[in-house]
Amino acid sequence: MQYLKSSLFLILFIGINLFICAQANNGFVTYAQKEILLQNARIIDVEKETVLEGYSILLANGKITRIDKAGNLKVPNGVTVVDMTGKTILPGLVMLHEHMNYFSGQAVWDHHPVSFPKLYLAAGVTTIRTAGAENPMYDLNLKRRIDNGLAVGPRMFVTGPMFNDSSGGFLGDFVITTYEQARKATAFWADMGCTSFKVYSDISRDALRGVIDEAHARGLMVTGHLGKMSCTEAANFGIDNIEHGFVSCSSELQFAFDSIWTINPNDKKVHDLVDLFVKKKVVLTVTPFSDSDFSDTATMAFLSLDEKERIRSFIKDKPPFVPKEVNERQLRPLEKSFAAKGGQIVLGADAADFGVIPGFQNHNVLISMVKSGWSPINVFKMATIDGARFLRVDKELGSIAVGKAADLFIISGKPDQVIEDIKNVETVFRNGIGYNSKALRDQVRGLVGRH
Ligand SMILES: [Zn+2]
Repeated sequence: MQYLKSSLFLILFIGINLFICAQANNGFVTYAQKEILLQNARIIDVEKETVLEGYSILLANGKITRIDKAGNLKVPNGVTVVDMTGKTILPGLVMLHEHMNYFSGQAVWDHHPVSFPKLYLAAGVTTIRTAGAENPMYDLNLKRRIDNGLAVGPRMFVTGPMFNDSSGGFLGDFVITTYEQARKATAFWADMGCTSFKVYSDISRDALRGVIDEAHARGLMVTGHLGKMSCTEAANFGIDNIEHGFVSCSSELQFAFDSIWTINPNDKKVHDLVDLFVKKKVVLTVTPFSDSDFSDTATMAFLSLDEKERIRSFIKDKPPFVPKEVNERQLRPLEKSFAAKGGQIVLGADAADFGVIPGFQNHNVLISMVKSGWSPINVFKMATIDGARFLRVDKELGSIAVGKAADLFIISGKPDQVIEDIKNVETVFRNGIGYNSKALRDQVRGLVGRH
């Protein structure tokens, strides 16, 4: 009997694991060889901010082991050689305001642990920091599954719940009001494995101080999507990072979300705020917004039928619609002057609502930054090595360099010259495994939004 029981258990165990592995490896892995030579490529060197033409990269056991002029790199015996003529290779994107959840339309967020990781990876996003979740355990456990090879997706750095005051916005906000509560909550989520903390729009001063003190005591960082509290105050309390760049500073820059903004980049209060951020070394996560193009049926095919219907009725009920993209573009000159004074910018997609889809939006962010006057290489740098530096993993990730993880993606075209080419992702390598971008996406059509 005992034998029968343990046999049944073993069969069940193997079955579950085969199922999980099948999930993890379902027709989208193109290269799983130990050694692969990517021959004769254009490589974007984000550290030197240049393009290397006619170079080859040897990947071995998940790492980048050699980079050299194509002619100088002899092909070792038995190595799989992939011709990269006409292709550009970028380091995997490291983006810092990402979500594995999507707004349901009813003050809660639905987790998307199957589709979102694949959508990120398919776009070349190989590392993310999540930017707050209603249940960080979903993100923490998803991260573990990805780390263990049981699920496919980017490397994850997990932020805790949305710390907010009781008057806050979402039903899943983690309410903390006092300094002591804030320290305890931060300690709890740090012990659970969160490596970053986010305060939300109605956080109190006491609670913010508590989160900062506990996080800093553990060498961890605090970010904020502010609203009620001014950015000046949060910077003076010692916050490390501000989400959505200057959007978070609406209270002192005096613009309202439901109207057309008029922000004067030469205003004294803008200069003072920029100077304060630089002085206090506050990092800005810029998340350029793109109003979804609902006529783009190829992209919208990723939305569920329910979500398409929700958006349709929302638009119908709420005319006239203030174009967020037009509003938000006014903030780009502020970010430029911040960077010119030595401020650090990292990028994020914030794809979690209203037809804004992970992966696609990460590309839109890069395109939008270039359109507002940044050079493509500069934007690639922000979206890779600068993100890795922020996460303190730039020794292992964030650029194409010998010894680093083989996290990179192959593009047909020259995105450093034509930024829209960034969308032509063919293969994404993470830890030396090559994934077919189209095959990853093909599996998750119609799965974004409640379904
Ligand atoms: Zn967000």
